[in-house]
Amino acid sequence: MNTSRYSRQELFPPIGAAGQAKLKDARVLVVGAGALGTSSAEMLVRAGVGHVTMVDRDYVEWSNLQRQQLYTETDVKNKLPKAIAAQNRLMEVNSEVEITGIVLDVNGTNVEELVQNHHLILDAADNFETRLIVNDAAVQYGIPFVFGACVASYGMTFPMIPGKTPCLHCLINHLPSQNQTCDTVGVISPIVQLVTAYQVTSALKILTGNEITPSLQSFDIWKNEQAEINVSALKNKDCPTCGSNPTYPFLAYENQTKAAVLCGRNTVQIRPGLEREISLQQLAQRLKELGSEVVLNPYLVSCTFEDFRLVFFKDGRALIHGTSDTGQARAIYNRIIG
Ligand SMILES: [Zn+2]
Repeated sequence: MNTSRYSRQELFPPIGAAGQAKLKDARVLVVGAGALGTSSAEMLVRAGVGHVTMVDRDYVEWSNLQRQQLYTETDVKNKLPKAIAAQNRLMEVNSEVEITGIVLDVNGTNVEELVQNHHLILDAADNFETRLIVNDAAVQYGIPFVFGACVASYGMTFPMIPGKTPCLHCLINHLPSQNQTCDTVGVISPIVQLVTAYQVTSALKILTGNEITPSLQSFDIWKNEQAEINVSALKNKDCPTCGSNPTYPFLAYENQTKAAVLCGRNTVQIRPGLEREISLQQLAQRLKELGSEVVLNPYLVSCTFEDFRLVFFKDGRALIHGTSDTGQARAIYNRIIG
């Protein structure tokens, strides 16, 4: 009986010893080290993917431990950046593979350098702006990008293959509302596991040269609902990302979210790069459910959130009072707005 590390995976005919060798040579980038990212990365590392890069801008907090499976109470106490805590844990899981944790806020300026030298990108971001930036870079460099997202008990996933399938930019207006986040409506761990099970299966198929089905899968695990949508018809030949004259708009500086420290006010202003109208009423409702003290008028919503005072305007602009750290302010913005 073969008891070697990957024997059970090699016994599975679509992978076999040849597929295992391909996994060993593979380099995968996981964007985000939250719930989706820690679950995917653990599976990839156990499966023997030769190099896994994890990138994340955040640090470990108590509210992460319910579902972010690589982290411990010690990581919270040490306020470790997620990318570093994840790297440490993954190195204990498998010392035969290379793991690189990078503490970074992925944006249109740094994404190109980040994605190069990877064979596949797994999406585990917590907001659609980052996803669209990574999607642009993935299409530009011809790297498959496996989209995955979840909130509450709902999730979806789709493997994007440049030149073959529609890209995330083609699909974006066909996806359900993207203004809910785990910080406003919560999330349960089983939907994370379901989405990453599909994402990692797609990754293993792509990396071992197996065929994949390019369909969008969506699930509500609490309601026992599942749907598979063939999205081939949604490929937009004029798509600014994957169409015949690509401009990769999300990589352009003018389209990036700007964060500016307001002088002497301990406040950061966030201005979204792309037009986004937000419903102040819906936002106020969600914030009230969080127990926040909310003020709503026709022009803005103001609330308290942790140690901060936040003000959101209809055009998506926000003021984050209580910090002069633009990275922290952007993270708070994405936790509320997505
Ligand atoms: Zn496209």
